[in-house]
This record gives sequence, structure tokens and C-alpha cells, in this order.
Amino acid sequence: MKSHARVVIVGGGIMGVGLLYHLALEGWTDIVLIEKGELTSGSTWHAAGQCPHFNGSLNMTKVHMYGTELYPRLEKLTGQAVSWHPCGGLRLATTDEEVNWLKYVYGISRLAGYEGEIIGPSEIKKYHPFLETFGIKAAFRTVTDGHVAPADVTNAMATGARNLGATIYRRTRVNDIKLLPNGEWRVFTDQGNIDCEHVVNSAGSYCDVVASWTGHIAPIANMLHQYIITEPVQELIDLKMELPVVRDPYSHAYLREETNGVLVGPYETATAHTCWDGKPPRWDYESELEPNELDRIMPWLEKATERLPLFGQTGIKSVISGAITHTPDGVYLSGPAHGPRNYWMHCGASIGICQGGGAGKYLAQWMVHGQAEINMREFDPRRFGTWATKDYTTEVSVADYHHMYYCYKPAEQHQVGRNLRTSALHDTLAKHGAQFAQIFGWERARWYDRTGEGEAYSFRRSNWWNAVRDEALAVRERVGLMDLSTFAKFEVKGKDAFAFLNRITANKVPEKDGGIILTHLLNENGFIESELTVTRLAADHFYVLSAAAAQLYDMDQLSWRKREDESVTIADVTDSYGVLILAGPKSRDVLKACTDTDLTSPSFRWLTAKTRTVAGVENVRLLRMTYVGELGWELHVPRAGMQQVFDALMKAGAPHGLSLFGTYAMNSLRMEKAYRGWGSELTAEIDMFEASMERFIRTDKPDFIGKAASLSRKQKGARMKLVYLGVDNTDSDCMGNEPVYRDGKVVGVTTSGGFGHATGTSLAFAYVPPDATAIGTEFDIMVFGEMRKARVIPESIWDPENARIRA
Ligand SMILES: Cc1cc2nc3c(=O)[nH]c(=O)nc-3n(C[C@H](O)[C@H](O)[C@H](O)COP(=O)(O)OP(=O)(O)OC[C@H]3O[C@@H](n4cnc5c(N)ncnc54)[C@H](O)[C@@H]3O)c2cc1C
Repeated sequence: MKSHARVVIVGGGIMGVGLLYHLALEGWTDIVLIEKGELTSGSTWHAAGQCPHFNGSLNMTKVHMYGTELYPRLEKLTGQAVSWHPCGGLRLATTDEEVNWLKYVYGISRLAGYEGEIIGPSEIKKYHPFLETFGIKAAFRTVTDGHVAPADVTNAMATGARNLGATIYRRTRVNDIKLLPNGEWRVFTDQGNIDCEHVVNSAGSYCDVVASWTGHIAPIANMLHQYIITEPVQELIDLKMELPVVRDPYSHAYLREETNGVLVGPYETATAHTCWDGKPPRWDYESELEPNELDRIMPWLEKATERLPLFGQTGIKSVISGAITHTPDGVYLSGPAHGPRNYWMHCGASIGICQGGGAGKYLAQWMVHGQAEINMREFDPRRFGTWATKDYTTEVSVADYHHMYYCYKPAEQHQVGRNLRTSALHDTLAKHGAQFAQIFGWERARWYDRTGEGEAYSFRRSNWWNAVRDEALAVRERVGLMDLSTFAKFEVKGKDAFAFLNRITANKVPEKDGGIILTHLLNENGFIESELTVTRLAADHFYVLSAAAAQLYDMDQLSWRKREDESVTIADVTDSYGVLILAGPKSRDVLKACTDTDLTSPSFRWLTAKTRTVAGVENVRLLRMTYVGELGWELHVPRAGMQQVFDALMKAGAPHGLSLFGTYAMNSLRMEKAYRGWGSELTAEIDMFEASMERFIRTDKPDFIGKAASLSRKQKGARMKLVYLGVDNTDSDCMGNEPVYRDGKVVGVTTSGGFGHATGTSLAFAYVPPDATAIGTEFDIMVFGEMRKARVIPESIWDPENARIRA
């Protein structure tokens, strides 16, 4: 066995092997994969092998699409035969909201470029003569979907990797992993040890155990999943074509043809459970199946028989019952783990056969080039923190499994696994009707429901519309108060803190105490990694804020950039402070009633901060800035004082008509100010010039990480540019990832949108070709299958001079 390698991958299922192959294709060949049994002997060998395109996420669609394009070519590429069945697929819709979803996904198919169409129930028989169409409102037909033998495709990628120089050790078990003082990882196996620069956890059902050796978390549950194959059916023997794979919300199952029989795999909507009582499998568990539980899944099988009577026509040939890894959000984990560098997760896939090729390709790009060509945020394992405990993971994964073919409307979330992280004001806000959404474990208010109805989730504007309009207008006309305690918060301290922050961020760090800047962390290629607000509390003390969801991600971004010779400490203080946003023309009057501080502009200017007593609570950090484009302050309050400050502001605000507001109103307000969002407009495949953020790049600074690459990217010219669009108003707004057309051709993509209540305009951001950014340029945006006119408008539609902010 080798004693050193650049990369060691633990686990030889499709995820590990897919990564090995693509690392080799990227040119890294000193790479090793270690498998305790035979390749595919975990979950991979027994999978049904379906590879669908239909998906509500553009990035995930690209992952799926890559696999379906690669697998049929693998035999040619590697010499190893792969049985690919290009039978197509039908995703059925049985409610109006599901039809809306099909229309949204149709837009994604236009962006991704795969062949698909929405067909009516009467057309279904043309493609699937045996399907009963009761209750079906529409179907999404994909043409190039298929299914594949999972072992074939994995072994072909293994052959391809070996051909390029990669090494695979079978029948070798990894027993431990340790970080070495030189930053490398030591992988302990029963055949000897290997040191490596990068270690990858692709251990499938064991990935949480493997993660625990190094103090990492891999939030997965091993769900029991079953599919049934019948004996051959005469009608299918006689059929000249292969039937498309059907995904049916009625039976909550996939139904397809398999060797002239029918294959049905239901995702039970109740009674699903984990394997092995929630414990990891035995170490000698290899190519085994679990006892079947046919009686338990009978209700869904009966519905499948109603949908496809051929299924009930003949006897059962085999039942496959096995473990499937499942994460709480149903998306696999792929990317760096939080903590020391170069520990990567690549596991947790529940549709891993379809995803193994694409997931491997994009993680290989990230490892080799420092970033992938797609946005990897939704796969990043750091979207889960320590709040994702075993109990939470199991409860939510079971719920997610129950909802596999359920159509989640935008903003709709699981109701289990909630209230993990709550603001000090949670119960108070709930009494005001707060409608909470979960974000990075936190509960955060979206809007305030005065009717007690709760949110009616929909793809279109729904019952929150009037309340959100009132909240947004209160901020524009009077004053609004919002709890944004979810901000990720860091303290950067030490004698080199100023130099360190200046070296790693693109903007100039304030030279005076109390100064605030918005700034970005770029990677070495000049792309945008993070957006931070940096407040200078003292020469050696900075308060750094970022998005709730970026708490672990940005902690890594900051600490990975610190050099050993820099005297700097970085502490996460997220839970120590609550945050209140007080904004609107009357905000000064309200705050004045609660503090002795002089709040007038000359002594408390925009983009400055002071630490003061507010409502008797000491050490409140007052930051004069908001994300809503009005006069206002962020109050960063020691957590214990939140209720006191909140009560005082509510009381002082009452005569001014203060209103609570939530994230829906905040989105409306920030869209009116054309403020970009991290994760939507600002992502790691975009540079600052493309995002029209050049004013935040200080090229007059001697150097900062990503400066040289940014400047050379600028010289080369933008591939696309962000534009701000006014969109024709109907009953819905852009959500992001809608295709943007010009002269009948897809030329761009929306990144986010919303309705500006103060301006009465539906607004969106989109990336379009650089020669189509002039004010007035017209586009068509496909929103739920309909073309909506949009035109480039000047930034911003509300208070372009920032006069209100500086008031
Ligand atoms: C019944 C069923 C049907 C399915 N149908 C489909 C489908 O139609 N389409 C689809 O896309 N997906 C399907 N799946 C899901 C798919 O099987 C999984 O998503 C996929 O196989 C996961 O691959 P993996 O590489 O992450 O895990 P695995 O295949 O489990 O691979 C992990 C490997 O790591 C090895 N390992 C673990 N720990 C160690 C260690 N310490 N040392 C050395 N080796 C180690 C294991 O032995 C194992 O071989 C199905 C799953 C089931 C159960």
C-alpha cells in the first residue's frame, strides 16, 4: 500500500468512484480510493438506477444532466460496458400547484438545455399506453431520461480512473483518520496507513461514523427503501418500445419497466423508518439486503396498481429492500467540512446513481481549481451546523422521505425539527402573529399574520400579500422593526486585525473607529466567496457580520485566510447578540426616546457605529445602516437585553405607527434599492465586475486576495452582466432561475425578484450578455410558462441618490 497520496477517498460506492474518475480527468492522478468490501457493495449495487432530469433546482439539474449525458458514453470512454436505457420520463401533476411547479421546472429545462415538455392528460397514453390518467392535470415529459445498471456505471468510472493512473484498494477498511501537525491527514487502515493532502468521506451509510472520528458531523439517516419487480407481463413482452419512467404523486412511487416486468418503488407518505434502529450498519455488512416489509407499504402498492394495472396482473419476482442515505433537506453533502482544511464530504446521496457522475465532476473542479463552474452552496455540508443533531436528522429525514413526491411550494418547509435556534424574542413575536421560517436552524419571521390563518403556500402571491405590503409601506412611510438576530457574527481581534482584514477583503477597511464597510472575500480566481459587513470598534477590534446561512462557511473563509504569522483571533459571537433593525423616516425619533446618544447626522453619520446604552441595556452596538434603503439603525443587543430594548422601541414607536416587519417585506424593500443578495446575485461563479459591484473593489489598495485575478478578469471582459429589471406585473414575481429571452432565444437567467410595494413595480435581477445592459433593453422572462416583458431600469428604483439613508 502507498504511504502517501494527494487524495484519499474513503468508500467505493458511486459517489466515491465518480469523484475518483473526475479527479483523474482533471489531471490529479496521485489519488487513492479505499473500499472495505467490493466496489458498489454498499447501497449502490441494489439501486433501481433511475436517472431523471426533472428537478426544481438549476444547479442540481446540471448535476443530473451531466450524469445522463456521461453514462451512455462511458463504454466508449473507458472500454467498460454500461447498460443505459434512454426511455424518457413522465412526472405527473395532480393539483394546480403541481402544475405551477411543472411550469417553473419547464423554465429550468430551458436554461439547462434538456428536452422536456408539459403535456395534458390526453397525450399521456401516446407515450405510456398502460397508464391510468385519473386525477392527472398534466405531466412533464422528459425525453433523454433513462435508467442504468448502477454497478456497470460505477465499475466503468473505476476503470476510467485506473486507466488515468488512480489507485483503488478493495477489501481494505479505514479505521480512523487524524489531522497531522503539518496539515495533512493520516488515514489508518487494516492494511497500513496513508498520509494525504486531501481526505474525502464517501462512506455512504457509514459516513456519519467516519465523520465522527475527526469531530465532524455528517447529518444523514439510513432510510429503508424498497422496490418490487414483477414477473414478465405479456403486454410488455409484446411492446416494441420501452415505457418511460413514471413518477406519480398519487401512489407516491416510481413505476417503470424492468426486463418485461413492472418495477414499482414507493416512497411511503407515512410509516417510513430508518434501518438498523437508526444505528450504523455492521462493519462486515456487504452486498446485503434487508428483510422486506411488503405489508407495510401495501397501501402505496395498491395505489400503484390503480395507476398502472399491469403491476397487479402478475406475481412478484423480487423485492429489493435496502438502505438509502438521506439528509434532512434531501440534498447530498459535497464540499469542504467545517474546520481544518482539506477534509471533504461527498456522501448523503439519496439519488446517488443519477447524481454520482455530476456530483463527482463538480467536487473535483472545486478541489482542483478552488471552485466549480456551478454554484455549490446547496451541496455544501456546512449548511448544517451542530444543531443538526442525530434526533433532528432522523426526524426530518423521515419527513423528507415521506414527502419525496410531494410538491413543496416556495417557502413551504417541514413542520418537524423546528425551534432549534430561537431569538430571545421568539415567543413575543409569535404572539404578534410571526410566521416563522427555518434558516440554518434558526426560526426567523417572514411576515406577521393578524388573521390567525397562517400562510397559504403557493407559487403565486398568496394570503400574505396585503400584510407584507403594509409592513413594507410602514418602513417607507413611518418606521418598521425587525428581529434579525440570525446574522452570523464574528469578532476579529488582535494587533494585526486591521492588516489581516485589509489583506483578505476587496474594500478598504475603515481607518477610523466606528467606521463600517460592506466588503467581499474573493477567491484566488477573483470570484465572490462571501459578503461581509465590517465595523471597526477599535484599532484591534472588528465586528464582522454575514448571512445566517454562512455562519460556518464564513468562519472557514476567515480562518483559512489567516496566516500563522498574523496576531489575530477570530471568534464566533453569533449567539451572544440579538439584532433589531429599526428603519424608516421616523426611526430616529423612536430611537431617540430610548437613548441619550446624539443621533443627528453630523454626530452619527451613515455607515458609522457607536456602542451605547439603549433602554437601560448597556453595550448595545448601534450601526447606522440598513438593508432596506431608509434612515435606520441596526441594534446589536447583548442577548439578555433583547426583550427590554424591544419593549422600549415598541412603546416609543407606537405614536409613530411602528410596524413589525419580516423577511418578505425586507425582500421587497431591498429589491427597490437594488441591493444584491449573497447566494443569489453574489456567488462563487461570478466576479465583482459581472455582478456590477466594481465600486466595492479598491484597486488602490496595495494587494488583497483575488486582486490580480479580478483585474485580469476585468481586462478579459465580463461573460455576462447583472441587470436590474422592471417586470410586467401579474399575479406573481420572479423567484430566481427563470429563463430570460431576447429575440426568442434564452440569453440569461434571473437570480431573484420581488414586488416593490412603494414603487408598485415587479422587480428582478438577471445575468444577461454584456452587450444587452443598456437602460431600456427589453427581454421576455418565462415565469410559470408565460412570457413576461421586462426592461433594464436604472439602479435603484427607490431613492437612487441615497438621500433618505443619509437623512
Ligand atoms: C432500494 C433503493 C433504490 C434506489 N434507487 C435509486 C435510483 O433509482 N436512482 C438513484 O439515483 N439512486 C437510487 N438509490 C440511491 C442510491 O443507491 C444511493 O444514493 C447511492 O448508492 C449512494 O452511493 P454512495 O457511494 O454514497 O454510498 P454506497 O454505495 O453505500 O458506498 C459507500 C461505500 O463506502 C464503503 N465504506 C464505508 N465505510 C468504509 C470504511 N471505513 N472503509 C472502507 N470503505 C468504507 C462501503 O463499503 C460502501 O461500499 C436507491 C437506493 C435504494 C436503497
